[in-house]
Amino acid sequence: MRTFLAVPIAACLALPAQAIEVGKGVDFPDSAMKQRASLPARPGPDGVVWESGASEPVAADFQALLFRGRASRPGIVFEAAVRSGPDWGPWTAAQGERSPSGRFWAKAAASGRKGDRVRLRALFMGEGPPGWVEFFGLDASAMEDEGGAAAAPRFAPASAAAAAGAWPKPGILPRSAWGAQPARKPYEPMPADRITVHHTESGRILDREEAADELLSIQSFHQRGRGWVDIGYHFIIDGAGRIWEGRPLAVIGAHVRDRNEGNLGISLMGDFHKPQRQKPTAAQLESLTALARWLASAYGIPAERILGHRDQDQTTCPGDNLYSRLGELRQAVAAPPAPLLARAKVESMPMFELDGQRLQAMFDSP
Ligand SMILES: [Zn+2]
Repeated sequence: MRTFLAVPIAACLALPAQAIEVGKGVDFPDSAMKQRASLPARPGPDGVVWESGASEPVAADFQALLFRGRASRPGIVFEAAVRSGPDWGPWTAAQGERSPSGRFWAKAAASGRKGDRVRLRALFMGEGPPGWVEFFGLDASAMEDEGGAAAAPRFAPASAAAAAGAWPKPGILPRSAWGAQPARKPYEPMPADRITVHHTESGRILDREEAADELLSIQSFHQRGRGWVDIGYHFIIDGAGRIWEGRPLAVIGAHVRDRNEGNLGISLMGDFHKPQRQKPTAAQLESLTALARWLASAYGIPAERILGHRDQDQTTCPGDNLYSRLGELRQAVAAPPAPLLARAKVESMPMFELDGQRLQAMFDSP
């Protein structure tokens, strides 16, 4: 069962028809925000077990603060505050959802201006030791149109006839495999002309059940936290190399601000930027290559139109350790399709369940 962190979030869902939340990442002066914090065995009198300290100045005006992470116990709840001048404003309770594995997203209706600072704190409302919390990231969000319809596509649509050859379709786990919720509104159809690579920022996941749980958590965050139609990405690749279906392929996604038209979003589970600096696993890179090859040949997308999120917006996504691999990815996509023998090998590759030892061996291999 999913557990609400605080009160139900129905009040957050009263969004104007076409408007959605778009977030800008907020940095904190040290990296403590992204490290797992052990909570004191006994909360203080006000129940506070953790505080973030002040963030760096926020980059733009915002209406809400959204954050994701993991919390060991359901009784851990969060509050946020904003400092506009010399004094901090009141603490505002965040509302959201926590999955059985402890993944949560939460949203605090705390607004502020460009240059304000923000902070978070955790309170423990349960019995026994509170355990620990960790954060994947926090962003300050404002209302925008999901499709970014006012912005022209960056590229003219490529002709399918331009496809150099056909790569086979890799194995893809359908939405039903992770128990996806239906879309909140009808999708907009979309011909694709480019591919954007992201990271989820939420850590490496190898286990199939945990990956499915993470997908549900991301979908809930995107649909209920941000007010999007559905999970933003078209595909998500876990640390074991499983490719999961996100949004249906032929519809517009929500993964690059003002640049979703024609844009296929692929996100790798992990945090490939400082301070975590994880590396994509060999299995993940293999699956990313197979997926990008298939999409590029099916849609006639040239290799140079495979971009990182940071190429199109102010963000560190997909992290230095994945961004630095995109040149190889483009080269692999530009190479002619493999001979029949190699192709047959790819096609017959099962949706593997590797044991932990083999996966460990694949870690951090180039
Ligand atoms: Zn991204």
